[in-house]
Amino acid sequence: MHPFMLSRADDAATAIAAHAQDAELAFIAGGTDLIGLMKDHAARPEHLLDINSLPGMAGIEALPDGGLRIGSLTRMSDVAADAEVRRRFPVIAESLLLSASGQLRNMASIGGNVMQRTRCAYFRDDDDPPCNKRRPGSGCSARHGLNRNHAIFGWSEACVATNPSDLAVALAALDANVVVRGPTGERTIPFTGFHRLPENTPERDNVLGRGDLITTIEVPARIEGRASHYLKVRDRESYEFALVSAAAAIAADSGRLRSVRLALGGVAHKPWRLTAAETALRGVSLDDIDGLKSAIAASFTEARPLTHNRFKIELAQRVALRALQTAGERA
Ligand SMILES: Cc1cc2nc3c(=O)[nH]c(=O)nc-3n(C[C@H](O)[C@H](O)[C@H](O)COP(=O)(O)OP(=O)(O)OC[C@H]3O[C@@H](n4cnc5c(N)ncnc54)[C@H](O)[C@@H]3O)c2cc1C
Ligand code: SF4
Repeated sequence: MHPFMLSRADDAATAIAAHAQDAELAFIAGGTDLIGLMKDHAARPEHLLDINSLPGMAGIEALPDGGLRIGSLTRMSDVAADAEVRRRFPVIAESLLLSASGQLRNMASIGGNVMQRTRCAYFRDDDDPPCNKRRPGSGCSARHGLNRNHAIFGWSEACVATNPSDLAVALAALDANVVVRGPTGERTIPFTGFHRLPENTPERDNVLGRGDLITTIEVPARIEGRASHYLKVRDRESYEFALVSAAAAIAADSGRLRSVRLALGGVAHKPWRLTAAETALRGVSLDDIDGLKSAIAASFTEARPLTHNRFKIELAQRVALRALQTAGERA
């Protein structure tokens, strides 16, 4: 690994100023993604700024209206174990418990989780094959290479990678917000607009710029929150990223869907909301399997499979259906 300097930030304003001024500086929280990227030479910061001592950025606040505020330095395991998170938004706790391993969840932060980079094997390859995300302008080895794990929605010729965060799928379904402090003050970014599609600049995963520090994730009160579920399909049952996953949150009246929030993971460069399906599902009975299937299919007309991942189109619809049904059992 290349040499780097490590220092610690004690207040947010100093951390933000240092990050804004030094293009070779990276924040480090749990280090579980960043250190791996540095070992693979996919990230080469010269200066790591440890943000774990920043005040007021760890902890969970259960708001009186039913929402949540989760500090970005809160550990994944603490969020997954929190009684109010589990009661109000089971989909969040489940997405975390199906992520990584117990040891990693004890170390990894919520902010780091939503910032983690793609698991495309070419991107993480120390041999440095063509990869526009790793080395802009070099090409995309996955586009006509091994792309079984890659995107079926929203990809570009420049990049067909997927976002690996499970939590991000749940937060997208719930229309959470990311609170960011930057050089010009604080702003709130809707979670569905936080991650980007690759277009011609796949090196940028999200809309953050230099000096931007995630302080909090806000989850608004949702009538659908309690009847929610996260389902993840992967090649092995633990310690593995999603081939396809789904977050579903619903409200129903006498078994008929009143409102639905549905997002997929493992299918795009960002968590993928199934908005057409959400609209089509309104009023459908949870017992009407054909009705549920055809409503979900409304979101798949725009799916574009690659050479090795056509199976994801069928799999994703099945995963969405099952997630919806399990959420329905909780309504
Ligand atoms: C073997 C393995 C298996 C895994 N499996 C899964 C899985 O199944 N599902 C899943 O979702 N994840 C999985 N992960 C990823 C894991 O969840 C992430 O590595 C972790 O959440 C990152 O958090 P961290 O605090 O360690 O981040 P770090 O590694 O410290 O940081 C990651 C990035 O976030 C930036 N960052 C951190 N905090 C902030 C902040 N507050 N503001 C702005 N930028 C910030 C850092 O600068 C860095 O760029 C796995 C990881 C490993 C190593
Ligand atoms: S899919 Fe994206 S990350 Fe993977 S090789 Fe292509 S450009 Fe790189």
